[in-house]
Amino acid sequence: MDLQGKTALVTGAASGIGRAVALLYGQHGAKVMVSDIDEEQGRQVVAELQATGAEARFYKADVGDPAQCHQLVQETVAAFGTLDVACNNAGITGELSLTADYSLEGWQKIINVNLNSVFFCLKYELEVMLKQGHGSIINMSSILGQVGTPTLAGYVTAKHGVVGLTQTAAQEYAAQGIRINAVGPGYIDTPLLGAFSAETKAGLVALHPIGRLGTSEEVAELVIWLSSEKASFVTGSYYPVDGGYLAR
Ligand code: NAP
Repeated sequence: MDLQGKTALVTGAASGIGRAVALLYGQHGAKVMVSDIDEEQGRQVVAELQATGAEARFYKADVGDPAQCHQLVQETVAAFGTLDVACNNAGITGELSLTADYSLEGWQKIINVNLNSVFFCLKYELEVMLKQGHGSIINMSSILGQVGTPTLAGYVTAKHGVVGLTQTAAQEYAAQGIRINAVGPGYIDTPLLGAFSAETKAGLVALHPIGRLGTSEEVAELVIWLSSEKASFVTGSYYPVDGGYLAR
């Protein structure tokens, strides 16, 4: 996918989808900055990348803190010289409550970790990419960036916000060689679904016409394509990878 020698940054890269994206970037020849709040697992992903011959570093950053996002981007450029591709992926499920019961603290937290974080990373990534005159950014939304679902008001709102932010920034920077897209996974079998009971998880399967949950690797394949020059005419788009969830 022509990522040879490119620098790729992935947030939330210690687990699940972010881990799969980081590993696939490495397989395609990119130098990878693995970032997460989970240092132990993050360093494990770096070791996996290095074992395959890929260049990789870890930097611990809480994406809910703009200063740490700024530092992460600066560390990436200091380590590898450029920032060609970024996947703003870190996220949490947040509180599960009906809207009237949703706590104010829970609301602030999910909006900060799942939406503000994407703005923070995007802002500082763009600073570097504008100087370079090129770049590709993939923001991790969700099927819940297109439709709602009970008890997840904060998550749904944040993921819709990620799509709007993507569409706006993509228009602003398309002429300057920077493509920005959003990806919308259906329910993917990762630790993030730990918030749900086994019974709920079984019920989620039925929402996907394909008859199963997705894998992190299936999401990563789409991210890699969007990151590469194969997607040179694609910007401002929202791509579901959802086993047919949104087609129902
Ligand atoms: P995951 O396996 O839980 O991985 C997320 C990673 O992000 C974890 O390592 C987590 O660390 C880290 N993280 C959490 N808060 C962070 C913060 N403030 N700063 C930096 N890192 C942080 O989740 P996943 O399923 O791969 O999800 C990745 C993305 O895909 C999320 O944006 C999620 O909303 C989105 N998504 C997932 C699904 C799904 O069904 N799994 C569906 C649609 C969209 P800890 O483990 O220590 O919290």
